[in-house]
Amino acid sequence: MNSPRPDLAELELSELEAALDVRGVERFHARQLYRWIHRRSVNDYGRMTDLSRDLRARLESEFHLSTPRVVSDERSVDGTRKFVFELADERRIESVFIPDTPSQTFCISTQVGCAMACGFCLTGKMGLVRNLTAGEIAGQVRVLAAATGLLGFPFNIVLMGMGEPLHNYDQTMKALRILHSEHGLAVSPRRVTLSTVGIVPGLDRLAREPLMPNLAISLHATTDEQRTALVPPNRKYPLADILEACRRFPLKNRSRITFEYVMLDGVNDTPEDARRLVRLLSGIKAKVNLIPLNPAAGIPYHRPSDERVDRFAQILAERHITVSVRKSRGLDIRAACGQLIVEGGTKKSAAQQMALLIR
Ligand code: SAH
Repeated sequence: MNSPRPDLAELELSELEAALDVRGVERFHARQLYRWIHRRSVNDYGRMTDLSRDLRARLESEFHLSTPRVVSDERSVDGTRKFVFELADERRIESVFIPDTPSQTFCISTQVGCAMACGFCLTGKMGLVRNLTAGEIAGQVRVLAAATGLLGFPFNIVLMGMGEPLHNYDQTMKALRILHSEHGLAVSPRRVTLSTVGIVPGLDRLAREPLMPNLAISLHATTDEQRTALVPPNRKYPLADILEACRRFPLKNRSRITFEYVMLDGVNDTPEDARRLVRLLSGIKAKVNLIPLNPAAGIPYHRPSDERVDRFAQILAERHITVSVRKSRGLDIRAACGQLIVEGGTKKSAAQQMALLIR
């Protein structure tokens, strides 16, 4: 598995050019190759018809081309599709396709499992198994685009699958550069949203990136005591520090930071919470996305009633905060937020995980 051969899927164009160069292969082949892999989602050298037979044979023997393999593709009644991918080391991850008009969205994973251990999230129960490589992160997009017929069409990407993107910073940003390349899928960073629990040094690094995705912060609580109980990294990066990092985050003219707020019945969904949230967000160009909990066995919280959600939303709206309520997509196939989990976690056996999944 630990092949010493470079993985073509995780090279940026300049790296691919350099890798061909040192092997005495003309650099211009890098663009052709890049287009086959990233723009056309082809991973079979036999189909790369504008490359000579000799070159294809060399690529085959000197490189490795990893592509996440679809092991299941489940379709929800609402059209959402959940894909399970197997990686080269047989680890599995999940990605979700959310069709909508006018825009289509891919929800992509950045890690196998997650170390953040948020109390309401199934992925958090797995613990972190390993980081994904840039090739595996970008690979989900190219395989999904091919599988859904969207190669060559615009789509959005949300880094809201399994994992914490800022906990796998370098590979995540490299994947965005691969996806952005004009010889690849040419995904505009405006179509990408990075969602994070708020790892402050990561936010400050992100603030200096030339390729800047939209930012979403998983806030979920309005006091440190409550947030630490729900989102353990809050102990290290408390609310004030995260919000300060948001205040200094450079935003383009019309853009805003999204604050995600999972609503847990009787826990963080009171009118006082809503008013505290308004105060916390003052001075930040913010919009709030309320996510009524997607319940699951093993998650000790409940979804609030629509009335409670509406009341909370109304308090924000009255104070001029843009608020939306996320509809849960793909609940019937466990593709909704916080429901992505696959076998192979470090903390629970496969049997225990299955038990968690069966309601
Ligand atoms: N680690 C990043 C990326 C994951 S995004 C982050 O936390 O932002 C997944 C989103 O779904 C997060 O906002 C997360 O808090 C939310 N979520 C997790 N479990 C959920 C659940 N059971 N119901 C609803 N939303 C949930």
